[in-house]
Amino acid sequence: MTLGIDVMTLFPSYLDWMRESRPVRNAVDADSLALRALDLREHAIGNYRQVDDAPYGGGAGMVIRVDVVCAALEGTYGMGADEVRKARRVVVLTPVGRELTDAVVGELAGGPDVTLLCGRYEGFDQRVHDELANDEISVGRYVLSGGEIAAMAVVDAVARKLPGALGTASSGVEESFSEALEGGLEYPHYTRPEDFRGWRVPDVLLSGNHGEVERWRREQSRVRRPRDGCDL
Ligand code: SAH
Repeated sequence: MTLGIDVMTLFPSYLDWMRESRPVRNAVDADSLALRALDLREHAIGNYRQVDDAPYGGGAGMVIRVDVVCAALEGTYGMGADEVRKARRVVVLTPVGRELTDAVVGELAGGPDVTLLCGRYEGFDQRVHDELANDEISVGRYVLSGGEIAAMAVVDAVARKLPGALGTASSGVEESFSEALEGGLEYPHYTRPEDFRGWRVPDVLLSGNHGEVERWRREQSRVRRPRDGCDL
């Protein structure tokens, strides 16, 4: 099965390097993912090829027009906007959306095909959210200058869940937030050298006792909490 993700943006070139990088490229090569970057500007309106306009009620910034987004959806999929909204997951990337968590990523990876709408400036006319889309996603409680980086976070995280994306089939199983770790964070990793400036690798990992290692990792994962501070 192939999951289609279309990224609608005023800056489609943002997606160029991502398409060539792993894991996205692996998922595309494995036919698990079909990724397109579509230029909203191709559906611009009038002589000035306008995609945005000043906000009603005044104030700073420009707002992306609902008629442009509607034309992009209907032109791309060859059906009415209502049908598009029934057939696909149409997502507005916005700071007011639901938070992108591992559960949301899993939901997206399970289909149907996805359209990610990337805003710029002040964002989209509210009617895009209300009438054209059926989902709103935020990548965190901060404001980016555009939806492209948010779209890339979504595409990367979803691609990792698709068959053929990760080098070793098992490397995606025991990850932070995964069922294998009961939703917890991943245990710490160490590699050579064994002793660097007196900073030693925990003895248990050098013991060669797989049962002990496994127990230690489970315990680490169980007690680990996200860091929300810094030592400075
Ligand atoms: N005026 C808006 C911010 C617009 S930022 C507000 O105050 O809420 C411009 C675009 O960047 C948005 O339309 C959205 O597509 C994207 N964006 C910014 N921050 C984001 C976030 N945290 N998550 C997802 N998309 C974001």
